[in-house]
This record gives sequence, structure tokens and C-alpha cells, in this order.
Amino acid sequence: MKSDIEISQAATLWPITKVAKEVGLTEGQIECYGHYKAKINDKAWENMPTKEGKLILVTATNPTPSGEGKSTVSIGLADALRLEGENATLALREPSLGPVMGIKGGATGGGYSQVVPMEDINLHFTGDIHAITTANNALAALIDNHIQQGNELGIDVRKILWKRCVDLNDRALRHVVVGLGGPMQGVPREDGFDITVASEIMAILCLATSLSDLKERLSNILIGYNYNNEPVYVRDLKVEGALTVLLKDAFQPNLVQTLAHTPTFIHGGPFANIAHGCNSIMATKAALRLGDYTVTEAGFGADLGGEKFLDIVSERLDHRPEAIVLVSTIRSLKYNGGVAKEDLTKENLEALEKGSANLAQHIQSLTRYQVPVVVALNRFVTDTEAEIAWVKDFCARLGVVAVDTEVWAKGGEGGRELAKAVIAACEEKHEFSPLYTEADSLEEKIRQIVIHTYGGKDFVLTTEAQKQLAEIKAHGWDHLPICMAKTQYSLSDQPEKLGAPKDFTITIRSFIPKLGAGFIVALTGTVLTMPGLPKKPAALNMDVDENGKIKGLF
Ligand code: ADP
Repeated sequence: MKSDIEISQAATLWPITKVAKEVGLTEGQIECYGHYKAKINDKAWENMPTKEGKLILVTATNPTPSGEGKSTVSIGLADALRLEGENATLALREPSLGPVMGIKGGATGGGYSQVVPMEDINLHFTGDIHAITTANNALAALIDNHIQQGNELGIDVRKILWKRCVDLNDRALRHVVVGLGGPMQGVPREDGFDITVASEIMAILCLATSLSDLKERLSNILIGYNYNNEPVYVRDLKVEGALTVLLKDAFQPNLVQTLAHTPTFIHGGPFANIAHGCNSIMATKAALRLGDYTVTEAGFGADLGGEKFLDIVSERLDHRPEAIVLVSTIRSLKYNGGVAKEDLTKENLEALEKGSANLAQHIQSLTRYQVPVVVALNRFVTDTEAEIAWVKDFCARLGVVAVDTEVWAKGGEGGRELAKAVIAACEEKHEFSPLYTEADSLEEKIRQIVIHTYGGKDFVLTTEAQKQLAEIKAHGWDHLPICMAKTQYSLSDQPEKLGAPKDFTITIRSFIPKLGAGFIVALTGTVLTMPGLPKKPAALNMDVDENGKIKGLF
């Protein structure tokens, strides 16, 4: 089998104008970025149908460090739906250079289920992430300049929440001091960097529903507190206009294609462990209005991106999913059953049974929303028939259909059975039941997530988090939804607790009000908003030859 990059480099792409035509967009309704990438423009929105297709949310069980093929299955499923004669579209996240250069690799799918051009999408694409980084750092520069020029707003330099960002894994930038060097170099203060995909600007770009909503959200960003301990917002600095200018083009969804030419909107890429984990509302809206079925993916497991899609995003999208696809793999279930990474390719029914408790917890938590769930078993060549049969039977006993897919090896052809099951699930009568309502207290919202989504007992707050919660309540921000920042490896806040731990308590060490995004972040365990690189980063395998041909990008 060829590598992902070899398959994608051998593909024949359609000109992006032809892909646009497939969903009824004319050349005047897109802005081309070369031959194979485009952004849709205002003229597309002016003429967009208002009727929306059916929405399929793809999420997963807790993964191994290599990922379990959610993007691969999402792409393969959309291609399979088109083979079934349906007008299917995709809405996915933009990859971050942190994991591309680090351990996990890109986010353009794999095997014969990929989005292309994969190098461009995984590297600089249409510059959205650059624009987000720039807007974020422009605000940081404007805050420091305001302080340098007399600090009319009385911003307390010890209470600035706004951090700088860069879209790389760079642990050395987690804590920095800026403004050193004397009176002409700014006012010294402690600062830090987040990875761009964990930044509030990324969340805002993904949750805004129009350019005016984008500006409004930017103006509401809480940058810190003044010397009277009162909140200071971007609107106090009067720079929301400038930030909107920097984001104007990045705000429009990007159009690309799968290897089978399925129209794909890739836009916005928040991480699901430290941010809300779902592509932009603008992209999903466009995909829903231009297709009859839209497949979208939420990052990491159903305890992270899945929960956040269902409790934060779908409400703002004003469209609940008609069906949920829960991706799992034999290897991740064995991993959750305690098998070491190097032994995952050997048949082990005992470990599979043990690890399937993780699958059961996710099925239970998702069916709680009253949306039909289909389990997609992403087949690896090392899976045995006995293992596949065991998981299918296990799901049947839990009352859920499980379908094995071979989209990685065969593209859309390998997902036709899954497509049929998903179409049938979309026809099932159902009524969405949210996990919590706006009126619930923040504690109640967290408790619902811990009990129903994670299968845990309760949560505790550190002294710092207690203080922050009291302040959030005093300011009246506690009606907002909660965005949990948690390890992706465990249902608990401790990465080594695999499977389906019981009776555990989640520790919340800090709350961060993200008032522009419109949620409160709860940092749990030891999760960090700036990752580090591993001992052997993927960057070591990358190269480009004298003809410009890239290798090693997975
Ligand atoms: P996720 O979206 O869950 O993070 P991806 O779809 O990005 O996972 O896939 C992660 C990696 O695993 C990719 O390199 C992909 O090629 C590979 N992969 C996915 N499915 C399979 C499969 N069935 N067999 C072999 N490799 C796979």
C-alpha cells in the first residue's frame, strides 16, 4: 500500500471551478487560490438556498496516540454517500502545523479517503491560520502599546488574560517575559503563548455566524482587568474594527475536494482537547445548504469534540445532527483494554472485551441526546474476523448498529454499507435532548458532562478555580456554556486511566472566561494550551527534492 502522500500526489484533481459547479456555485461565486483551492464569496451567500440538508456528526471512542481514522471515515463516508446517488458535502477542520511537525501528522484523511491537495491543506493552505495568528498577536501588540503610551484604561499588567500565539508546538514559549530592555522597549510583564488552534480568535472565527457577529464577538473579548479589578474588553481599546479587517478574508469558508471530487469545505481548526474542536459554522452552513447530506467531524473522542459539538456548536449552528457516526477501531479498543502499542496488531479478544467498555460508555452518552447512533468500525489490515464479529455482536447487544468500513483501503466503495446505515439512521424519528440548558449553573453544566459524558462521579475545584468561579458569577457570565479542556486519552482527566474508569472525580484547576467565543473554558488535569514536540518529531522525516516534490508529510 502506498503512503498517504504518494496516493494524493498520484491523484488527478478537478479544477476547483468544476467542483464548485457540482454544488451549484458559479465562477463568480468563488475566489480561486490557484487551480485547486477556493473561498466562497459574498455572492455565493446572497444566492445560497435556505433549505438545509441532513447533518451527520462523526465522532469517536478514545484514541491511541496515532488517531483512529475519524477524518478518514468522514471523507470515505461522504464519498460513499455520493456513490449511493446522494448529493453529499463535507465540512472539516483545517490542520494545525503543531501536530503536522509533531507526532500525529496531518488531518487530511488517509489511504484512498483523503482531501486534496493534501500538502497545501496541511501546510499553509489559504492563509487562514496565519490571519488568525496575526489578529491574535496584533491585539497583544495593541495592549502592550496602550500600556506603554500611558495606560489610560489602567490595565493591571499582572491581570492580563490575553496571550500571544503561534501555530507550532513550542513548549519554550509557554511562559515568557516581554518588554525587557528599558523604558523604550515597553512595560515588562509576564506573558505566554498558546498554540493558535487553542486561541480565542480561532474559536470566534469558528462560531461567528456573520461578519457583524464576528466583529461583535471580537469586541466582547475580555483582555484582562484594570487596577480596580474591573473587566477590560477589546471594545474599550476600540480595535475590534482592525481585528475584523485582518480576519475578513479568512472568515470565508475554503472549498477543496476529496480524491473522489466530493465538494469539501475546510475551515477553522480548533483542537478538541484544549478548544471546542469543530470546524466553522460558516463552513457547515454552506455545506448544509449546498448538499442533501453533510458529513462533519468533531475532534478527538465523543467526550471532547463530540460533546462540544452537541452542547455548544449545534445550538449556534441552529441545526442538530440527524445522525451520529461513532468511529472506533479494534486497535484502540485493545489499547483501552490495556494492550501495549507494539502489541496492538495481534488478535486479543480478552483485551478487546475489556476495552469495549470505552465504546459502551460513548454509546450510552451519545444515545442520551436522542439522536440515532451508528458505530463505524474502521478496519485495519491486522484486524481479525473474530475481533470484528465480536465488536459487532457487542454493539447489537447494546441496541446499536455497527458497520465495518474499508474506506482507507478502498475509498467510498469501502463505505457503502456504512452510507446505507447512515441514510436509514437519518430517517429515524428523533427529538434532540440537550445535556444542559443555559439556565443551569456552571457547576450543574460541568456535573452533567462529568456524569453523563465521562461516566464519572463528580468534580472538584482547586482554590484558584473556586475564586475564579466566584468572579465569573459576580460578573454574570455563568449563563455561558462550558468548554472542557481535558486529555483525549481517557474519559477522566488522567491520561493513564484507559477503558471506562468509574467513580472518578475531575479536578478543575482553572477557569478562563472566553467572552468573545461565548464560553467558559475549564482546564482539567495537566492539559496544556501550548503542546510540546516529542523526542522524534515528524519533522525529522520531511524533505523536498530539487523539483519541489515533498515527502514525509505522511
Ligand atoms: P483521526 O481523524 O481520528 O485523528 P485520521 O483519519 O487523521 O484519524 O487518521 C490517522 C492516521 O491513520 C492517518 O495517517 C491514516 O492514514 C491512518 N489510518 C486511518 N485509517 C486507517 C486504516 N483503516 N488502516 C490503516 N491506516 C489508517
